[in-house]
Amino acid sequence: MWKSLNTQIFLAAILGLGFGWLLSLGDVGDSASWAGVSVYVLGLISGVFIGLLKMLLIPLIFCSIVVGVANLQAIGRFGRVWKITLLCFVTTTTCALILGLACAHLFDTGKGLDITLFQDAMADHQAPDTLSPSAFFSNFIQNTLINPFKAFTEGNVLSVVIFALLIGAVIVAGRGQFDVVHGFFQQGFEMMMKLVQWVMYIAPIGIFALLAKLVATSDFAVLGSLAKFATVVTGTTIFHGLVVLPLLLWLFGRISPWRFFKVARPALITAFATSSSSATMPLSMRCAQELGVSPQVSGFVIPLGAQLNMDGTALYEAAAALFIANLMGLELSLTQQIIVCLTAMLASLGAPGIPSAGMVTMIMVLQSVGLPAEAIAILLPIDRLLDTVRTAVNVQGDMMISAVVQHHVEDTDLLEQRAT
Ligand code: ASP
Repeated sequence: MWKSLNTQIFLAAILGLGFGWLLSLGDVGDSASWAGVSVYVLGLISGVFIGLLKMLLIPLIFCSIVVGVANLQAIGRFGRVWKITLLCFVTTTTCALILGLACAHLFDTGKGLDITLFQDAMADHQAPDTLSPSAFFSNFIQNTLINPFKAFTEGNVLSVVIFALLIGAVIVAGRGQFDVVHGFFQQGFEMMMKLVQWVMYIAPIGIFALLAKLVATSDFAVLGSLAKFATVVTGTTIFHGLVVLPLLLWLFGRISPWRFFKVARPALITAFATSSSSATMPLSMRCAQELGVSPQVSGFVIPLGAQLNMDGTALYEAAAALFIANLMGLELSLTQQIIVCLTAMLASLGAPGIPSAGMVTMIMVLQSVGLPAEAIAILLPIDRLLDTVRTAVNVQGDMMISAVVQHHVEDTDLLEQRAT
């Protein structure tokens, strides 16, 4: 069943892109025309698909982390999993940042473009309040350590993750005292995964609708004026996804990239179509388990990665900051570029896994080196299109890291078995 669904999702994506292009030939803005009506219907269909994924998201994250932490700690693996996961997050994000800066330098994005072309957009743009790194930290703490019920209802993923980590830890500390609760969440997790399987049945239709609507309603003319930047940043993100990450996976996880892409395809296409790592998370977990990652490891690494590990976003933010500086005729010093990298890492950490979240945290990166926040108005019109590829790479990183972690946990198991 999984194999045929995987193929159906792939075909649906291609058909969706083609149908969207057909619609774009009609008058999409006229709600009475066939194109307008089709876009409305596509919006309804994709809304059902995304709505169902979002419905499962919070209970799934909560149950999977509680169970993951409790089970891993019970078998003495939590410390190792935790350390390898963080090490992988930092390593892959650093590679992405270096690539982002290198591509902006190599191709001199922004040079040759006239800033006056964008003056109107920048003037109209209401710059949000200043977000300095210190303000970022205090906001972060204030918004994260909150009433868990508020976090559940508001869909505050990071708060839910932290609360779940604590509940998982307290279950272990109880040494059997909280077994009933543990069993309850274990069953909750299994139920959620079963529901994910059900939602998967409509994934081909949902993906078709999402991509058709995206192509039909995107403004490709604006993309044209920023074509060089868009091509360079998308090409580099794809390079990171097709070369750097698979190489790391092969070196440290001993998994063939070919096999990875075959199994992970549904999650990658869903990330591309939804531009949301969070909405894709239920599918990423499912694909990681198909790859052989245990529910404990995938249940811990993937929700955490969907929130904290965003290679595509980090790469984009570093490249975009240099693009804006070039456009304004400013030369950033080496120290300023290091500051861009560090803030972009922080920004990708704080960005929630939703469409265009990177644009909001991008303000912090621009301001860290004195660039105006209004400059994001230049990139906003094309962001939904660029977000497709960077979200797919964000999700790819999470699944790959879960496979690497699994490989290393298995290694220790084997070593210990041999020693006894
Ligand atoms: N849309 C991205 C994600 O969900 C975040 C971003 O805007 O870069 O992973």
